[in-house]
Amino acid sequence: MYKYLFGPVPSRRLGMSLGVDLVPYKTCTFDCVYCESGKTTLLTRERDAYVPFNEVKEEIDHFWAHHPDPDFMTFSGSGEPTLNSDIGRVIRYIKSNRPDIRVAVLTNGSLLGDEQVQQDLMTADLVVPSLDAALAKSFTRINRPCDGIDMDTYIGGLASFSAAYPHDLCLEIFILPGYNDTSEDFVRLGKVVRQINPSRIQLNTLDRPGIIKSLRPAMPDDLEKAKTYFKGYDTQIIASVKDQPNDKAFRKDMETAILETILRRPCTAADLASVLGETVERIETCLAGLRSADRIESVVQDRGKFYQIKKDHEVT
Ligand code: SF4
Repeated sequence: MYKYLFGPVPSRRLGMSLGVDLVPYKTCTFDCVYCESGKTTLLTRERDAYVPFNEVKEEIDHFWAHHPDPDFMTFSGSGEPTLNSDIGRVIRYIKSNRPDIRVAVLTNGSLLGDEQVQQDLMTADLVVPSLDAALAKSFTRINRPCDGIDMDTYIGGLASFSAAYPHDLCLEIFILPGYNDTSEDFVRLGKVVRQINPSRIQLNTLDRPGIIKSLRPAMPDDLEKAKTYFKGYDTQIIASVKDQPNDKAFRKDMETAILETILRRPCTAADLASVLGETVERIETCLAGLRSADRIESVVQDRGKFYQIKKDHEVT
């Protein structure tokens, strides 16, 4: 069992992705109202060697020695990865020893104006910063940043990183009804996106309950409307499949997606829920259907029940 690595999990966006978590649980520059990891326990913008570099390196070496190389190694987890002052060292270690493994960094973007952070991330293949609001009042209400991070510095940092970064910069915008979905919000977001000029944009919304129970996800129509404010940019909607119609065609698509996913590597129901953006309950319903059709089988391992394709079946 690793302390700093998690997965690998198959991801539609990244292929087989191994997670690297470089900060202790809920160490973050933000305390987002929708955070799936719960309340931030250490709200800070101080960079530090929050976990020992040598221990991370040992785990990475152990993983490489005992598993096939993943497609991506992705810095994410339950906090802000750029808070770790050794992130650049870890990225360089990966790139110098396994140049074929691509490196992704999922970040809230709040430290991207820092010159050292910029240098640290320069060799990553993909950086996915989030931007939820471009009006100060919405930013404060959604992201609840620590003292010392204000809207203008934050956006300026994103823009300066984007101007210097030579690889794929995918801006993720999280739409939260009642928090950042007025016309004023979208007009301002549209302007700021042009200032940042990312390679592409992903629009996302709530998938699981946040720490405030009244939060609700944006509907597909809301996301389509939001998309119109980012004309000229490659904008993808990462809509939760649970908002799609619950008809037979949808169910068949989901079963096919499950089969395609576990064909590459056995997964638990929770892995599948995370990869396919679906609730565990609905994944389990589809798994039950596939089991009764004799398409899949399960094996119990340390991390729980893993589902795999039944040997004498192929994905159609
Ligand atoms: S930036 Fe990410 S980890 Fe930090 S509070 Fe927001 S959602 Fe949670």
